[in-house]
Amino acid sequence: MTTQAKTIPPLLGASKAQLKDWVESQQQPAYRGQQLHQWIYQKGVRSLTEITVFPKAWRSELSDTPIGRSAIHLRSEARDGTVKYLLRLEDGQIIEAVGIPTQKRLTVCVSSQVGCAMACNFCATGKGGFTRNLASHEIIDQVLTVQEDFGQRVSNVVFMGMGEPLSNLENVLSAVQSINTDIGIGQRSITVSTVGIPGQIRKLAKEKLQITLAVSLHASNQKLRSQLVPTAQGYQLEALLKDCRIYVEITGRRVTFEYILLSGVNDQPEHAEELVQHLRGFQSHVNLIPYNPISEVDYQRPKGEDMQRFLKILEEHHITASVRRSRGLDRDAACGQLRASQIQTEAVS
Ligand code: SAH
Repeated sequence: MTTQAKTIPPLLGASKAQLKDWVESQQQPAYRGQQLHQWIYQKGVRSLTEITVFPKAWRSELSDTPIGRSAIHLRSEARDGTVKYLLRLEDGQIIEAVGIPTQKRLTVCVSSQVGCAMACNFCATGKGGFTRNLASHEIIDQVLTVQEDFGQRVSNVVFMGMGEPLSNLENVLSAVQSINTDIGIGQRSITVSTVGIPGQIRKLAKEKLQITLAVSLHASNQKLRSQLVPTAQGYQLEALLKDCRIYVEITGRRVTFEYILLSGVNDQPEHAEELVQHLRGFQSHVNLIPYNPISEVDYQRPKGEDMQRFLKILEEHHITASVRRSRGLDRDAACGQLRASQIQTEAVS
């Protein structure tokens, strides 16, 4: 009870109105709420004592009030400019966030959980199991960290790091809200990627957000999908696609289908044809992801010609599709390569 009473919730994630109420509760004038908001979200202070526009006496009283920023444990830059960050959370857990620069954009790939319970058999994160959900401030922090480190505004946020965002929907939704209104990133520039959790896509649809929903389909039939994605056993492909259609109806937003290409497993013409049957007339976009190697399984990256043929079949049937370029491969920062177990070796190298 006593320790609970002492725990002050972090301010990160609080809106302008909430910060105004908070400063007033500290007997400070309302305009300090606006200042606090700016110093947390624009200037990225890590401690309230750094806010030099605040009176000195008050600042020293605030030294115990946490903002909720995580420490950078390790920063690792790939040859293509992609930067992987290992972030240390309050309880010592380590998560990963990735900054992906392109000419016009800076995309942040954020984690939503420590580890992941989904155990997809081609994904490194799943190999280590699930530890816990991230709090919303631990998600927001990842965006601010990348923004600061690059010294550039983040343009896009993708929930494609460690974890299954729809298994942590409540905290993910508050993080999305804050990333949108407090950091100022448009909802259309935010993507939430899910393997599909029964009931959750409909729940998300009801929020009527303008974010992009990406669904990790990965296979063109139920049998193959449940081999690759064990949780698919409890969520039939037809049911998943039906929920995606409802998502499109309610939100008016097209859905992105992610499809990992594993050489000889799901990248053959018959798979493309089968996928076409499911997606005909569906307001969607297919994102083909060439498999990024992980050590535990011996899948192969798809051959260039198989990838092109797959893409061509989709296009011939008017299904819009693109191939995702792998970024950060040499630093294990690419899709599916994020794991906590490498941390020890990396931290000493
Ligand atoms: N749990 C969410 C987010 C996971 S990561 C989801 O399943 O969508 C984002 C994408 O990377 C997912 O589509 C995931 O299936 C894919 N991915 C996982 N392992 C991969 C690998 N080794 N190579 C390429 N993509 C991978």
